[in-house]
Amino acid sequence: MEIKLLGVRGSLPTPLTNNEYRQRLIEILMRALRDNIQSENIEAFINSLPAELNTVFGGNTTCATVTSKAGNTYVLDCGTGIRPLGDELIKGPCGKGLGVVNIFITHTHWDHVQGLPFFKPIYIRGNVLNFYSPYPDLEDRLITQQEDFRFFPAPFEKTASTKAFHLLKPETPLVFEGGLTVDCYPLKHPGGSFAYRFRQNGKTFIFATDVEFTGEVFEKVGTETDFFLNADVLVIDSQYTLDESFMKFDWGHTAYTAAVNCGIRWHIKKLVLTHHEPSYSDTKLAEIYREALEHREAMRMKTPEIYMAVEGLTFLL
Ligand SMILES: [Zn+2]
Ligand SMILES: [Zn+2]
Repeated sequence: MEIKLLGVRGSLPTPLTNNEYRQRLIEILMRALRDNIQSENIEAFINSLPAELNTVFGGNTTCATVTSKAGNTYVLDCGTGIRPLGDELIKGPCGKGLGVVNIFITHTHWDHVQGLPFFKPIYIRGNVLNFYSPYPDLEDRLITQQEDFRFFPAPFEKTASTKAFHLLKPETPLVFEGGLTVDCYPLKHPGGSFAYRFRQNGKTFIFATDVEFTGEVFEKVGTETDFFLNADVLVIDSQYTLDESFMKFDWGHTAYTAAVNCGIRWHIKKLVLTHHEPSYSDTKLAEIYREALEHREAMRMKTPEIYMAVEGLTFLL
């Protein structure tokens, strides 16, 4: 399976500001002049820059896809990252009303559903959107999001595609084509949230965002459940620095240090830190990444491999 991150920002969309962009251009050009960069070396020069200069982590809210071996796409959450996905999908069967889109919902806070009204396949007759979640009232929640024309002109139930709602039970796997199995696990978050686990051909991908992993929570893993153990890729909430997590105790998000502790304790191969705090600049996110690596070193561990979630980042399992 292939995993692709399309929205990595927590809470609300956060575009790069003009001022940040200009400051970055100035810094890059100063370095290029200092190092006397020639045109044939531009690509290598850009690659050599620190992440705060050569990476825009991304401003879209949560959305990711899992593409199975057979090429079918499964969507995780409908933050604003789902809008560019819809634009891509309508170039294929979804553009002709022949598409089937399977969507898994972690929970319905705005930043996880706000992109759905801008997902073009939903407006095309013949497309089938299958929604999977452990929420018996998910349809009602999505209707409520766009039921008042003063806030959005198209009601959810009047959009032309066919919608079907499928109820999941935690840790009861659903089996899709090619032996792809998906199950979910409840998370500590205001109003609740669920992690999803995708398994195919002996590989495991887990998506666990909007969760406050504390010592008490991760002590349970391995005793009450082995849900998180030994994943090849775990995309995990790490919205805060350690200091901020103390100030925002019970807000339902995890500090990057705790996220790294989870990755170590659960024997994760690749740990991907996501749901970036909207008030953090790319410079701050790059700093958090370096500190996450230092924290792993301080724990005297070489694994997991740690990544910052970046829009467009993909993993092949
Ligand atoms: Zn969120
Ligand atoms: Zn949330």
